[in-house]
Amino acid sequence: MVHSVSGRSVVITGGSKGIGKGIARVFAHAGAKVAIIARHGDQAMAVADEIGHGAMGLGGDVTSAKSLEAAFTEAAKRHGGIDIVCANAGIFPQAALDEMTEAQWDEVSDTNLKGTFLTVKAALPFLKKSEQGRIVITSSITGPITGFPGWTHYAASKAGQLGFMRTACLELAKYGITVNAVMPGNIITEGLIGNGEAYIKSMEASVPLKRLGTVDDIGHAALYFASKEAGYVTGQTIIVDGGQILPESLEAI
Ligand code: NAP
Repeated sequence: MVHSVSGRSVVITGGSKGIGKGIARVFAHAGAKVAIIARHGDQAMAVADEIGHGAMGLGGDVTSAKSLEAAFTEAAKRHGGIDIVCANAGIFPQAALDEMTEAQWDEVSDTNLKGTFLTVKAALPFLKKSEQGRIVITSSITGPITGFPGWTHYAASKAGQLGFMRTACLELAKYGITVNAVMPGNIITEGLIGNGEAYIKSMEASVPLKRLGTVDDIGHAALYFASKEAGYVTGQTIIVDGGQILPESLEAI
């Protein structure tokens, strides 16, 4: 069990639901001071109350630098700085390539990829003051490794996050800040359930461990990257997918 996030201040974007909520819960139970950001600030506050351990909910939109600056400033003021940021907020609406509009592409790209950049930018002034600044990005297997029809924009944004990470970690090493990414497979969340029952069933069948992941599975991987124990790990990824990317065909499992 990793204990070294105890007393450290963490901000998690997209923490009001799904994976972000799981990360928030795992960090709160490990003794971290948790702040969660989501566009619906009321939901973020309700989830913070549910998590307890002094967690704080804040309204904020990762597509807006101004909004993030306000939320990070408030989190730092109330929690005495920021040591860890989990750039997790993301969306995954499906659209076939031949029907996809420029607006649909931009929405996904602005939230998932530009949103990661803006989140890191807003966190940097605070992370530089921390003795062990940590950035943990929620990427995906979709894009960096696998493909799925309807998600060209999403896949590009998730692969883009890893390109961003590999240069950001070099630039930020001089401040002792590490940058790493968790690559989830199919994790049961409000967002994933929105893809429908047929999607969920077909994914379950393609996972060697024969279950979809839980948000806590991702929370524990994020906790490792954020820990003191992971201080010599930067620019790296961990796939948390129940073995889903490995089989060459369904017959293999
Ligand atoms: P989810 O259940 O739909 O939750 C998304 C969270 O992000 C909510 O808290 C939402 O709150 C917030 N959010 C969305 N747009 C935002 C914005 N512009 N600014 C701030 N917050 C925003 O999604 P999820 O399944 O947990 O996915 C979370 C992350 O994991 C995403 O980056 C996704 O790509 C990645 N991921 C998920 C899976 C999976 O199987 N679930 C697999 C691989 C990767 P508001 O609506 O109030 O803003």
